[in-house]
Amino acid sequence: MTTVAEATLAACPECDELHIRRPLRAGQRAQCRQCGATLYREPRRRSDHMLAVVTAALVVFALANTFPILVLQARGVTNEATLLGSVAALWTEGQPLAAALVFVTAWLFPLFDLLALFLILLAVRMDRRPSFFAPLLRTLQALRPWGMIEVLMLGVLVSLIKLSRMADVVPGVALWAFIALTALLAVILSYDLRVLWRSEPRPGGTP
Ligand SMILES: [Zn+2]
Repeated sequence: MTTVAEATLAACPECDELHIRRPLRAGQRAQCRQCGATLYREPRRRSDHMLAVVTAALVVFALANTFPILVLQARGVTNEATLLGSVAALWTEGQPLAAALVFVTAWLFPLFDLLALFLILLAVRMDRRPSFFAPLLRTLQALRPWGMIEVLMLGVLVSLIKLSRMADVVPGVALWAFIALTALLAVILSYDLRVLWRSEPRPGGTP
């Protein structure tokens, strides 16, 4: 799939200066000699370590969505609600913007990112390149600038302020799962996806 030129040359993403690719140690990065931009880096974590982190994050995500996160009080009736239940409550309370923000930042984006990365890392682990590999990895890379952890935390913060007027946060499983999920996502979002393009299937399995 990769040509010899692609495997041995690295073009600077800022100034297009061509460099000869050299192997790096874990955690090292290669800089452009012309402008100092980062050309490529060797991740501290290997792709199968990331697969374990992503799998843990998916389990934590399921926990965060199974258990109630909020106690909603409406017209004298007290209800415990999960995250998606809270989104529905925000929507019906006339807060569609906050509902959309919580849904996208705390549910849709993390779930898509985790599922997509899980499939990609699983393919790398099994030395396969299914037809969805390249389009999915490209989509994930395109979404990364929009899904930074800061945006995620801001969304959760705004929603907590909005929700505190109509609900109390349940200090239970779901809340701890969300805190753990935020930490795991910080690790996952700092992983440089570009190295996955270079992870060619090995004919003989592990070297
Ligand atoms: Zn450069």
